[in-house]
Amino acid sequence: MTDTRPPGQAAPTATQRPDGSGCLRVLQVSAEIFPLLKTGGLADIAGALPAALSTAACDVRVLLPGFPAIVAGLQDATAIGQFSLPWGESVRVLSGALPAVQGAEGAAVRAYVLEAPGLYDRPGNPYEDAQRRPYADNHRRFAALAWGAARLARDLDPDWAPQVVHGHDWHAGLVPACLKLTAGKQVPCVFTVHNLAYQGIFSADVFGDLGLPPSAFQVDGLEFHGQISFMKAGLFYADKITTVSPTYAREVQTAEQGFGLDGLLRTRRSDLTGILNAVDTQVWNPATDIHIPHHYAADHLAGKAKCKAALQDEAELEVTKDAPLFTVVSRLTEQKGLNLVLAGIETIVQGGGQLLVLGSGDHELENAFRHAAQSHKGHVALRVGYDEPFAHRIFAGSDITLVPSRFEPCGLTQMYGLLYGSLPLVRAVGGLADTVIDADLATLDDATATGIVFANFSEADYRHAVRRALALYRQPRAWARVRQTGMHQNFSWTQAAQHYRAVYIAALPDLSRAST
Ligand code: ADP
Repeated sequence: MTDTRPPGQAAPTATQRPDGSGCLRVLQVSAEIFPLLKTGGLADIAGALPAALSTAACDVRVLLPGFPAIVAGLQDATAIGQFSLPWGESVRVLSGALPAVQGAEGAAVRAYVLEAPGLYDRPGNPYEDAQRRPYADNHRRFAALAWGAARLARDLDPDWAPQVVHGHDWHAGLVPACLKLTAGKQVPCVFTVHNLAYQGIFSADVFGDLGLPPSAFQVDGLEFHGQISFMKAGLFYADKITTVSPTYAREVQTAEQGFGLDGLLRTRRSDLTGILNAVDTQVWNPATDIHIPHHYAADHLAGKAKCKAALQDEAELEVTKDAPLFTVVSRLTEQKGLNLVLAGIETIVQGGGQLLVLGSGDHELENAFRHAAQSHKGHVALRVGYDEPFAHRIFAGSDITLVPSRFEPCGLTQMYGLLYGSLPLVRAVGGLADTVIDADLATLDDATATGIVFANFSEADYRHAVRRALALYRQPRAWARVRQTGMHQNFSWTQAAQHYRAVYIAALPDLSRAST
């Protein structure tokens, strides 16, 4: 391995506890990371976890593919080595610092980035071309990430090597396979499923590119109905598996939500843990949020009313405080229950409410919402696109955050809604069921209610939930009480970080476990 760091240059310092003791070295592997590159909740979690884990005695570095936004955002980048991929292409590994999330304290997180322009230097979406087709060489693009992780786990950086590798979603699914099936130091691997619906399935023809022994291509391996599944590789070869909420950890073991992998997940249930995602309150806090026009808190809500008026104005909705403002911030996909939202528009409008949707994705859904906005000018509005600051202004100005998902591994927007005083209206599924307490007579009475929850994925049930939200809004005292309870929810990373550390330690071989 070549160390291309200039002679005499010091190795990057690790993020450590102040006394430097007891730190568990963890390499986190993900395709996205906030604030450099985000297409969904995965990036929020990958961005928040390293800092959170540093408070739980973990020294975390991250490995990322060299997508243009990631290379551009890496600070003080230095090449530390290079390696060859199974198909002969050479990759340089850069080491640098990730820019701190705005307002965050503490040392910058160290990152390794795979510099391979032939694989990653493409405009737009990291996974798909302009026609929204997955790139034909995605197996190579993400196999490279796995090989990079294996090399870093073994010998690539002479100054730092992880004790545990933690991969996220199918993009990192091959990481445990590379570590388990190839010669060299064996480093335990934890694999987190953020969304089982996206599996990284490829034709068996490309197996030769992966650099794995033929024995990997079998049912007890990464073979999935005659094809290659990166997700299955992660689930099969990882030492420990986590997913992003306790309810989702149970749901993925069922045929309904297992996407064909429920059998494997059932056999691995003793290694599977559900750890609820948390919220980075340095970024998502209405008292300090840099993107919103007026700050506020649970005991000081004047700013929220002003945020609502500003949002209505910005979205060209009628500016009135009396109309409950329902909002959606979402990828526009079938998963998110947006057909229910479409089916409930009349109920909202006839009930005196308003609807604002921010999202991009499925063109049919975009067109349907555009049509609804044209037919209900001043009451329904749509903004197509991905707009982080606008998303913050929406949560701040919104009264009700709609998340009626068909399935939802964890969901972050309902948690943002809670903290911003926008009552979540959610379906009782996955992490939504774990984070929102339905307002019924009992929970209103004992002040535990935080939102509106409905059970069945049906238009009738969804519309009924909308009517319940409208009715609650007409009872200002009850509404205020539910909102208060929601705004006081604690979604901090402290507990989740401790859980992850416990999983890492459980993944270690017995001898090293004893010394942590
Ligand atoms: P998923 O990861 O399935 O997309 P999550 O609720 O876990 O869903 O996370 C979605 C994240 O992406 C949240 O941070 C949300 O605010 C953000 N988001 C989704 N769509 C948009 C958009 N169009 N503009 C800005 N942010 C968005």
